[in-house]
Amino acid sequence: MDGVTETWTEPSSTGAALLLLGRGTDPSAERGVECPGELPAPSDPTLVERAARAKAALGDRLFILGHHYQRDEVIQFADVTGDSFKLAREAAARPDAEFIVFCGVHFMAESADILTSDAQKVVLPDLAAGCSMADMAVLSQVETAWELLEDAGVADSTVPITYMNSSADIKGFVGRHHGVVCTSSNAKRALTWAFERGQRVLFLPDQHLGRNTAILEMGIDADDCLLYDPHKPGGGLTAQQLGQAKMLLWRGHCSVHGRFTKSSVDEIRLRVPDVNVLVHPECRFDVVTAADYVGSTEYIIKIIDAAPAGSAWAVGTELNLVRRLANAHPDKQIMFLERNVCYCSTMNRIDLPHLVWTLEELAAGRLVNQITVDADTAHHARVALDQMLALP
Ligand code: SF4
Repeated sequence: MDGVTETWTEPSSTGAALLLLGRGTDPSAERGVECPGELPAPSDPTLVERAARAKAALGDRLFILGHHYQRDEVIQFADVTGDSFKLAREAAARPDAEFIVFCGVHFMAESADILTSDAQKVVLPDLAAGCSMADMAVLSQVETAWELLEDAGVADSTVPITYMNSSADIKGFVGRHHGVVCTSSNAKRALTWAFERGQRVLFLPDQHLGRNTAILEMGIDADDCLLYDPHKPGGGLTAQQLGQAKMLLWRGHCSVHGRFTKSSVDEIRLRVPDVNVLVHPECRFDVVTAADYVGSTEYIIKIIDAAPAGSAWAVGTELNLVRRLANAHPDKQIMFLERNVCYCSTMNRIDLPHLVWTLEELAAGRLVNQITVDADTAHHARVALDQMLALP
């Protein structure tokens, strides 16, 4: 059975993901660690002033990165905004900044640490800001999958690709096995590169980006895209299926983009007949095929910027970004695709109190919440990231 026609259900969580956010400790996971220190109260009326003062005191020693899905109260202090890939490159382009404060989630801060010098410190204002998608592929599970491919005699003809939204451990695994990292903008180029080197791809951890790109952009048959479920013995596949598949799609997804449904597209088209539906490729296959435009966060921003006044847009991505776009373009009708609120709860953990606390600690000479990747993992992850940058 291919991954398109079956009824899609939420995969069960990994053990790490079962930890309540901000409680307990699991340093190998993307989330679930304590946030130390005394946070200012959210009601403190001086928060904006305090953040500005601490930022000014740190001057050029500080560079603040803000992901598009962050709250406005945080974005106002970002020196640059962007998606995860753009922000990683921006971090690498600031060798003089001693502190890179990453307002985003854990895997992004890891990528920034990999791409910056040892002298630079990457800081995540709330250590519990992880990513549920990245949590869905942990190293031990991926190593088990690779052993199954070896046992089936097909590991040598398999190229691993991991989406940027994965832990440094997974990027390191991919680098060790001659694969590549991809983003939502270059997934097709990564797949083209991989199929010049192997007969199949193990695509981690977002099944939807992998499936959408394989079927819609590469013309791969849906029957050749098989779902690998790390929670089932053998991934839920036989050795013969592992060998015959062209795409082995890891059973992971984004908990935000996975919420958009085909019925939300149908419903908005009924309500707003001339609406343009614009979605992110982390959405499910039936949503992407029902949409008018599909693309990365940066693509979504460009399309809305270029849209004519008076046009109507239903956007299927994270709510903070959609709301910011709507505020920036009052001459266009910009709506959220889903009726229900759909924030990324972990992105939202970085709020103004956490930012103020972080900046004041740094200004006082106390390094807090540093994100580091061990040298061996960083080396191999860098190989996979550099391979992405060298994609034709
Ligand atoms: S929006 Fe999705 S992929 Fe992005 S950080 Fe949140 S859970 Fe992860």
